[in-house]
Amino acid sequence: MSEIGDIEPGRLGAAALAANFADAHPPLTPAQAVVEADRCYFCYDAPCVEACPTDIDIPGFIRKIATGNMRGSAQTILAANIFGGSCARVCPTEELCEHACVHTAQEGRPIMIGALQRHAVDWLMARGIAPFHRAAPTGKRIAVVGAGPAGLACAHALALLGHAVTVFEARPKPGGLNEYGIAAYKVPDDFAQQEVAFILSIGGIGIEYGKALGRDIMLESLRGDFDAVFLAMGQAGVKALALAGESMRGVRDAIDFIAEVRQAPKPAVAVGRRVVVIGGGNTAIDAATQARLLGAEDVTIVYRRGPAQMTATEREQSWAQTHNVRIRHWAVPVRLIPGTGARGETVAGVEFAGSMLNEAGHLVLTGERFVLAADMVLKAIGQSLSPEGLGEHPEVRGGRIVVDAERRTSLPNVFAGGDCIAGADLTVVAVQDGKVAAAAIHRLLCGGV
Ligand SMILES: Cc1cc2nc3c(=O)[nH]c(=O)nc-3n(C[C@H](O)[C@H](O)[C@H](O)COP(=O)(O)OP(=O)(O)OC[C@H]3O[C@@H](n4cnc5c(N)ncnc54)[C@H](O)[C@@H]3O)c2cc1C
Ligand code: SF4
Repeated sequence: MSEIGDIEPGRLGAAALAANFADAHPPLTPAQAVVEADRCYFCYDAPCVEACPTDIDIPGFIRKIATGNMRGSAQTILAANIFGGSCARVCPTEELCEHACVHTAQEGRPIMIGALQRHAVDWLMARGIAPFHRAAPTGKRIAVVGAGPAGLACAHALALLGHAVTVFEARPKPGGLNEYGIAAYKVPDDFAQQEVAFILSIGGIGIEYGKALGRDIMLESLRGDFDAVFLAMGQAGVKALALAGESMRGVRDAIDFIAEVRQAPKPAVAVGRRVVVIGGGNTAIDAATQARLLGAEDVTIVYRRGPAQMTATEREQSWAQTHNVRIRHWAVPVRLIPGTGARGETVAGVEFAGSMLNEAGHLVLTGERFVLAADMVLKAIGQSLSPEGLGEHPEVRGGRIVVDAERRTSLPNVFAGGDCIAGADLTVVAVQDGKVAAAAIHRLLCGGV
């Protein structure tokens, strides 16, 4: 019988960790990029563009790669999506543009749109080229809350139009989940910070770090001090399992574990030998896979519904399975089992009850019970927005700020976007929200279209 509470840093050596956390999808070479670009039909009314939440002119940027116009290609991408570099790395392209590509239906091998997008944007960023220039100052001041993809996309679009933007960010670094959440092997080499520096180089954007709405600043005062406010604070709260013992050693929020993997040197991150991850989204997949890559021997994701209901895509699920993460469906945790390890009380396992959908489509428990032994339990059952802590706030429904098509909230001159409003929780969607809100704020403050 192995020791209970076996949670240690440095399960693998530095070389193995470096290899495990290297770029998951290495970039195309220039020759590969041209060959791939030449496969594109440059479709009229291209379905790939329809499928892109930020409306990037995909055939347009691919044609420019094919003809050697790399700067033009990157500019086409970035004009529609200033986070084109990170979206090229993190977008579920297999469900968006590449799914819609006509080559997918024809031969099951879409154009590698994400890889080509990365090729073009990386080319431009590596040369330090500033593709856009600010309009003359308008004298208007806008406050943005949150320096994640939604907040910075909005800030960039507003700065480009000549407005002065102040971003209030609770954390010490910008980037939001690009910096603290996305799996380390998707954005290695400090790419998130390089991209933020590139975005801020437009000028006109100041960031105040360590300033949290509801703690250090209040919405009432932002509305008094600025011409408009854009709320983009994501889903900062974490949902609890509502089981006894959640504060026990070894039980952790998956999102905190992931943030530690992103911020600390990999050999310093402690991981259990046997890890159970509870949840069915990106957070569960990324926590489980990264636990394996840190050297955990036995990692199981347990999800209360079936594979089709997991919000993690099929590709993400098989990515985890390729890394020997087991996924068990249709089970709900009912008890955290305590044990006594070398360092006192610690989690020793989780008891699960089988689950199923009844005739009315509701999730119910079956009589089946099983126990998984665990040194570490990672909770990934979702994040939440807690408006109560924010003081004055716009209308919230189902834990999301209510907005109209222009991302206007119920409060005058207050807009919102990204994960704090309803919709797919994806980087590319957050960027589009930021863009749409910036255009609406500009119309509000300066008129015109
Ligand atoms: C583990 C994980 C993996 C993911 N993987 C992918 C992926 O592979 N591909 C993909 O497309 N999407 C992925 N996503 C989703 C994606 O990261 C988000 O949809 C996106 O980051 C949302 O952007 P945002 O700007 O709305 O919020 P965030 O990125 O969360 O940024 C919000 C910012 O606001 C700050 N903030 C919070 N509260 C306050 C406050 N009160 N005052 C001031 N600042 C505040 C935060 O510190 C943060 O910087 C993943 C999400 C998670 C959790
Ligand atoms: S659908 Fe495919 S082939 Fe057509 S323009 Fe888009 S990437 Fe090219």
